[in-house]
Amino acid sequence: MRPVRSRARQIVVPCQDVALRSLAELSVAELAAYHEQGLALYRAALAAEDLNKPLSCPGDHRGYAWLAIKRAWAQALLSECNYCVHNCRINRSAGETGYCGLTDQALISGEYLHYGEEARVGTTHAIFFSGCTLHCLFCHNWRETFDLSAGAGVDAAHLAEQIRLRCADPAVQSISFIGGTPEPHLHTLTALAELLPEQLTLPWVFNSNATLSATGLALMEGLIDLYLPDFKFGNDRCAWQLAKIAHYSETLEANLKAYQAQSRQTASSLQTVQVLIRHLLMPGHLDCCTLPVLEKIAAEYPEMTVNLMGQYRPFYKARERPELNRRPAKADLEMARTQAHELGLSLV
Ligand code: SF4
Repeated sequence: MRPVRSRARQIVVPCQDVALRSLAELSVAELAAYHEQGLALYRAALAAEDLNKPLSCPGDHRGYAWLAIKRAWAQALLSECNYCVHNCRINRSAGETGYCGLTDQALISGEYLHYGEEARVGTTHAIFFSGCTLHCLFCHNWRETFDLSAGAGVDAAHLAEQIRLRCADPAVQSISFIGGTPEPHLHTLTALAELLPEQLTLPWVFNSNATLSATGLALMEGLIDLYLPDFKFGNDRCAWQLAKIAHYSETLEANLKAYQAQSRQTASSLQTVQVLIRHLLMPGHLDCCTLPVLEKIAAEYPEMTVNLMGQYRPFYKARERPELNRRPAKADLEMARTQAHELGLSLV
């Protein structure tokens, strides 16, 4: 199976101007418009493809490579960041910070081979980004995620070289962007898509909080092969009280619908986008979070596989909420599993 970015790499968006200006000369609005045209070409190419056809090369060669447009647009957006639903609109390139606390400097707390993920992810080269779009009281990676002073500054070229070296190991089956969450790092991901050699065809895994904005979703379409969203809360009240995010349900729905559309669109093509939802059972939140989450998945996203996780431990600030300051009851986990089976969900 080819990764979706092999198709994205072939898309060239015809230039509308008499002169072919460099991408750096284009405004954010012009880059957005060119990106939209590339997206249409990409989707049309997928729709026209069948499993027996070789990859064709749509588009006009006098134009801009779609991957280059992605990189330039993501970079330009840093001056009014709207990568995720917090929509801070601050200038990260000038050192300003929003909800995630990050400037334009990419920070990682580590990059390593990860052997403990789901079978669909396999042995993966994980890039662990600092910063997050949620502030969960029970975060189990809180030091790596929220202590930005501990993150190592990296540039995309260095990261690309590390990935290239690590992924020479034939045991590696995927490349995972993880954290924290990768949403604040779309400028790095789009730069990597251009920098990594075409021959490096390992699938990309977006292991996230599913909090991309519409812009962020568009930027990632054509790059991500496996979405691994956390679906944490069953209602907006718990999401606000436990993770300081507003409009959580609406956000999750927009992200899952977008992943679903990408997955369905690619179902019969040479490149397939997959989705695997994770849900962590939190103590005291079976009725308000876990069961509604499972019901929602069964009703709206029945084709998606679910990893129902029972390994919650009271880390970070969990002691601030008495119900969170313990392990989940075994009976709750059993009830959740029974409910998932009765709903017909496909569990990991
Ligand atoms: S990534 Fe999200 S949280 Fe961070 S500055 Fe941009 S919009 Fe705000």
